[in-house]
Amino acid sequence: MDKIIDLKKTPNSRILGQVTSCKNHSDHHDNYLIISCGIHGNEIAGLIAAEEILEELKLQSTAPELNVLFLLGNRQALKEKKRFIDKDLNRIFLIDYNKDSLPVTRQESRQDLEELNEIHEVKERDEIIKVIEELEHSVGVKGKFYYIDMHTTSSYSKPYISANVKFSQTDFLKAFELPIVLGIEKFIPGHFDHYLASRGYVGFTVEGGQHKDPNAVKILKEVLLKAIKILSKPKLIDRLGNFSKPAKISDENHPETYEVLFRFHIPEGKTFRMNPGFENFTKVVKNQVLASLDNKAVLAPISGQIFMPLYQTSGSDGFYIVHKISNE
Ligand SMILES: [Zn+2]
Repeated sequence: MDKIIDLKKTPNSRILGQVTSCKNHSDHHDNYLIISCGIHGNEIAGLIAAEEILEELKLQSTAPELNVLFLLGNRQALKEKKRFIDKDLNRIFLIDYNKDSLPVTRQESRQDLEELNEIHEVKERDEIIKVIEELEHSVGVKGKFYYIDMHTTSSYSKPYISANVKFSQTDFLKAFELPIVLGIEKFIPGHFDHYLASRGYVGFTVEGGQHKDPNAVKILKEVLLKAIKILSKPKLIDRLGNFSKPAKISDENHPETYEVLFRFHIPEGKTFRMNPGFENFTKVVKNQVLASLDNKAVLAPISGQIFMPLYQTSGSDGFYIVHKISNE
């Protein structure tokens, strides 16, 4: 999947493309779907999926009855094919948790701000926030906002959805027939996803599979198409059917919903090695040996299922343990 990224096409803009609904009937078409890709610059599958869906939408003879905005994440990192330049962009959409647990604003201490000014990703983040704020301003209170933030994973993984909602609010997510993981923001705040959810948007992060797996593009495209179909008026569903088979994204019949219960943090300077053979949703039992830290065994503190086991050399998240909350 060697993709040459031509960011010259949008030299001064974060917007990869935009499809707007029929303006004559603006009162009826207030749904906005923000599709973002490249928040991590080495995750090219999302960019390819976005470009291909955008082209397909442009070829339709009638505009979709939905406004769709395709947003670029970390532009410089995309150019350099790196996950990030200085700091993970998907950790710095910081939110103030202290307001009746309704996070609404970014808040950073003065010292943090001084440090952050030196960081490339702060510029990227602030430009993205500007686009979002301008969009909200132009739409006004009428709009209903949805989002999908596309990612892929470094190691093999089944596709899944991660979201910052309560189990009772997962109806939209369940339409995609993928495993759903809730609550990661409690352990790693500052996700773009978390930022949008805090503004009242409905949506999720989707992990399409391993970075270079050609199937990841296909899965991400199917997720986008399905979202567009769901959020558009019924007529469009038939038209979109002309260029895509009805999406059957996952081969799981009843994908489960999980909640994150535990994160293993790797202290600075320590050597962490995940034992081989774990992948997302592998079952583990309490006290099972999962990894080593400076050659000392790391045991599972609780029973559950492994999530995001670390098999690369960098990062401070060793693994997570999730548990199933659906069908309880
Ligand atoms: Zn990512």
